[in-house]
Amino acid sequence: MANIILLGPPGAGKGTQAGKLVAERGMVQLSTGDMLREAKTSGTEMGKRVAEVMDRGELVTDEIVIGLIEEKLKAGGGNGFIFDGFPRTLAQADALGALLAKTGQKLDAVIQLAVDDEALISRIVGRADEARAAGKPVRPDDNPEVFADRLRAYYKSTAPLIGYYYHAGDLFVVDGLAPIEDVARQIDAVLTQQLQ
Ligand code: AMP
Repeated sequence: MANIILLGPPGAGKGTQAGKLVAERGMVQLSTGDMLREAKTSGTEMGKRVAEVMDRGELVTDEIVIGLIEEKLKAGGGNGFIFDGFPRTLAQADALGALLAKTGQKLDAVIQLAVDDEALISRIVGRADEARAAGKPVRPDDNPEVFADRLRAYYKSTAPLIGYYYHAGDLFVVDGLAPIEDVARQIDAVLTQQLQ
């Protein structure tokens, strides 16, 4: 059993790799983006509050996402949790450490998906085009202007986590621009090493 964080900017492939880990290792994916999108469509007060923030490409408050994660941690994690899109701020990282400690758990690895901005932008354009071609709705925050704001939020608030986890000795960097299967193999190698 392993608890891991997938760290990287929007479009780096965190969701894709998390999906593979769920299928292959029976881990539980905790995507705060998915939880917030669900809340957005639920019509609750919280959903309404987060909708505007998300559509602007900004981060919702630490309090909201930490609350969402706390609920899920209580429910238990099968073969370990994959934190996907969380933590995104230093306060969230501290809170996650405290929540795991409280439930007698620990973090086994933080896997950074290293990518460059140009590749990300073309991936996001591709993701929107694919959705359109399949007749599916395009994520409102995948339009180029909002995506630029999401990237800014990443560099301002989330990128400092790289230093935070490097210092803690938990950081592993994989090449996020490699083909999906290669990235999956790199992640698998980290997990296998950490589980020994
Ligand atoms: P994602 O699907 O991970 O790209 O998240 C979509 C949007 O949800 C982000 O642009 C933020 O507005 C919000 N969001 C997701 N996770 C977090 C988080 N951990 N902290 C703050 N906002 C978040």
